[in-house]
Parts: sequence; structure tokens; C-alpha cells
Amino acid sequence: MLCLYEIAMETDQIAAALARIGVIMRSFAWEQSEGADLTPTQAQILARLAARGPSRTGSLAADLGVTQPTVSDAVAALLRKGHVARGPDLRDGRAVLLRLTESGRRQAEAAATPPPALLAALDTLSLKDRDAMQRALIGLIRALQVARAIPVQRMCVTCAHFRPHAHDDADSPHHCAFVDAAFGDAALRIDCGDHEDAAEEDLAQIWARFSQVA
Ligand code: SF4
Repeated sequence: MLCLYEIAMETDQIAAALARIGVIMRSFAWEQSEGADLTPTQAQILARLAARGPSRTGSLAADLGVTQPTVSDAVAALLRKGHVARGPDLRDGRAVLLRLTESGRRQAEAAATPPPALLAALDTLSLKDRDAMQRALIGLIRALQVARAIPVQRMCVTCAHFRPHAHDDADSPHHCAFVDAAFGDAALRIDCGDHEDAAEEDLAQIWARFSQVA
């Protein structure tokens, strides 16, 4: 059993390792966005619109965890470059939605591409290690979300349609009530377009049931 000092050392080391991985993510994002004449915020907005469809400026700011003026400046630049266009929100006549143009869609695909070096490094891990990493990262993102340290993520583990360990099948133990299908850990989603927020009082129970089986 680890003592408190060893636990603190371990969490420090994990935080240091995540920071190292963050370096490659940031430097690749900078390279990609510079080559495409986009700032990182502009590239993130394009990637977000591609993942979530037409959106309001306010929801983009909330999703990216930045201020509305920051998003407004980036959107103005994207409008000038022709990567996004404004259109009416049919559900609310006073609201305006931003959507990708064809050139914006092409840029978004490039912006959403993970660093090839990171994908190659992940390929060197065993399936078991990747599964364990995915579960741990989902737990970490959820904890950050609960602590309101990051914007809300559309993950299975916070979704009203998620039924963890609903099936007696080691490969596909979970159930998505939205598509009425069983699935395994490898298919757990971090950003799902069909996500629906689970009720606040159900979140802890969903997590407890999901995490009870390692
Ligand atoms: S709707 Fe999406 S987020 Fe919700 S359980 Fe199904 S796959 Fe997961």
C-alpha cells in the first residue's frame, strides 16, 4: 500500500506526464493553424462547428472555455476568410447561428487531426494499456468537469442514455438507450452529438456503476 508521500509523488508524476503530452498537442496545433493562416482559437472554433453543427457564439465560448469577446474576435476573422457564415436559428428568430462553409469544413478536418506522432506512440501500447488509459482519462475529464475546471463534455458517463454494465458480455457490457445498442469500453464517447445531460441526481450513480468493474 502506498503512503501519502508516495501518492503525492505519483500524482505529481502523472501531472508532469500529462504536461509533456500537452506540449506535443499544442505545438502540433500551432503548426497546423499557422500553415492554414488560423489562430489556435479560430482552428478550435472550426473543429467545434464540425463536431457539433451550427452554433451560437455564446455556446462556442462555453464549449471552448474562453470569453465571448475572444470568440467574437475569432469569428469576425473567420467570416472575413470565408470559413464560416451566419444564418438564422429557425428555433429562435432573434438568434444567429454560425455554420461552416465548404472551405471551413476542409480546414476543420485538418484542425481535428491528432498529431501523427502521438497516434504512432499510442499504437505501441498494448490493447489492455490503451483500454486502461481510456478509462482513466474519462475519469479524469469527468472529475475536472464535476469540479467545473473545464467546460461540460458530452461523454457517455454523463449521458442520460448511458446504461453502464447493463449486459453480461465482457466485450460489450454497456448499453446506449439512444441507439438501443450494446457497446464496449473502446466505443465510449468523449464528445457525442446525441448526448443528453443526465439528471444531476443520477450522475454519481452512473459513475459508480461504470467504475465498479475495472
Ligand atoms: S447517446 Fe452518445 S453519449 Fe449518450 S450513451 Fe449513447 S453514445 Fe454515449
